[in-house]
Amino acid sequence: MIGTDVIERLRRLWRAGPLAPFFAIATTLALLVVIGHDGRRVGQVLLLALPGLAWLFWPLRSARMKALRALGLWLWSMAFVADATLRAYLFDTYEAAPDSSLVLSAMANTAPRESAQYLAMHWRSLVAACLPMLAAGLLLMAFVWPIGGRPAAASGTGGAAAVAWPRWAIALLCVGLLASSVAYASKPWRRLHPVLYWSGWSQSVQGLRATWAGSETRRRDLLDRAKAAEPQLRSQAPATLVLVISDSVNRDNLGLYGYPRDTTPQLSARSVALQEQLLVLRNAWSVDPATVPALANLFHFGAPAAAQPMHVLALARAAGYRVWWISNHDDVAIEQTHGRLADELRVVSRTPGRSSESPDTDVLEPVRAALADPAARKLVVVHLMGAHPHYSLRYPDEKDVFEDDRQIDAVERRLESQGRPAWLRQRRNEYDAALLHHDALVSELLDLTRASGTNADHKAWMFLSDHGQEVGHERNHAGHSPGTAAGYRIPALIWRNQTDAPTRADLALRPFRSDWGGWTLTDLLGIRWGADDPGRNVLSGEYQWRAPQLRAPVASFID
Ligand SMILES: [Zn+2]
Repeated sequence: MIGTDVIERLRRLWRAGPLAPFFAIATTLALLVVIGHDGRRVGQVLLLALPGLAWLFWPLRSARMKALRALGLWLWSMAFVADATLRAYLFDTYEAAPDSSLVLSAMANTAPRESAQYLAMHWRSLVAACLPMLAAGLLLMAFVWPIGGRPAAASGTGGAAAVAWPRWAIALLCVGLLASSVAYASKPWRRLHPVLYWSGWSQSVQGLRATWAGSETRRRDLLDRAKAAEPQLRSQAPATLVLVISDSVNRDNLGLYGYPRDTTPQLSARSVALQEQLLVLRNAWSVDPATVPALANLFHFGAPAAAQPMHVLALARAAGYRVWWISNHDDVAIEQTHGRLADELRVVSRTPGRSSESPDTDVLEPVRAALADPAARKLVVVHLMGAHPHYSLRYPDEKDVFEDDRQIDAVERRLESQGRPAWLRQRRNEYDAALLHHDALVSELLDLTRASGTNADHKAWMFLSDHGQEVGHERNHAGHSPGTAAGYRIPALIWRNQTDAPTRADLALRPFRSDWGGWTLTDLLGIRWGADDPGRNVLSGEYQWRAPQLRAPVASFID
């Protein structure tokens, strides 16, 4: 019978040679590559992996060479497995590719200490993400082991060489290798190879660091451009603006914005006492889920990549302001792109990275000194760590007030009904404790601004967060969140001692986007300049809202 004959020949082929390990390894690789790449990419990456696997079909006699081949094959396959695992992790957690600006700038900006803190916070999801890699590693080991040093016991006649390969099998392998050589010949295609991809990636990270370090010329250009714009002041009276930029504060977790936990007793009290002097923008949004792009948009009038970008700090200096940058972020990118544009730069954090334990309250002393400075016009930018992960680093241990398990409150009940796991509910408690602690400092910065100078001065204070934070709001995740609205929902508060018209209630309901914040800031500074755009200044009567394009679905920008 022809049927049994064919089956018998296939069985002999299978037992004799590399066919079984080839299919086993190829299947394992395919399963892993599918989790790290989409669509066409899966096939492209598998074709790049093929030459390594095809080595199995090359007859080898020396035991040492066989062992070497087994090891080489395992390392080759694991490069693809590790690549896929890392990509899958980044996509699941941040909906970002490794070479996205989000991931690249975060990596270029990361100090070793920060990496350790990141591991401490995210080890659960990292372990979960690494499980498939571990399983694949063991499986691959089991598959390549038999083709290693041991003499082929099953086929005493000498393995693959002794078996006559059917023509179709040889043709199939040749077609595969031909397609693979096309893959290697094409530059964008071969760049997907894990070794090429990740070495190029590491060069991009280092290139980014170098760009930031060499930005002296860029700053000089910004200052020259601002002078050329000839900004004018509306009033000759002394003026002070304190801009407080916090980090990772989601307005949904602030009592002031209606959160069931009273995380902002001080700000809420100020809001009642100051009435229309303090504007609480109910519908404030960031358009970026991470610090570096969010600040670039805020200070560059929403166009940091423009051929001739303008910078709020440069414009303020050109208009006659003395500018302070007081920061608790020891961060090379922020310092190079914004901080060094100030007349006075003061970084209070003693440890690099955003996992620094340096308390935000350290900014108070330099802020007091800046406000006491005799300069007639002062812009004081205060950059806080706010509620940036690791949340429990943001408040003293004894302030862990939401930790008490005996007291189940509305927030806890809601998280439980949403099925949020215990570790995430714990993160939420820590996050809220960080915000409560933060409230006292933000209020004190407002009080210091109000108490500075004289009542005849023009005084203003603005507080906002660079971006939001997901802490079990929409999914089981605690951290930055490009894929959910929680990553973009920020608080924004404006206090002014002198306003042309009393702040109207409808102003508070206007949606606000922080990439347009530059226009509001120049208004608070009393600056008039050629490229002013009242349509984007939330305080202006001519304000015209246009919804931004976010990477997260947003049903409505007005709650
Ligand atoms: Zn941030």
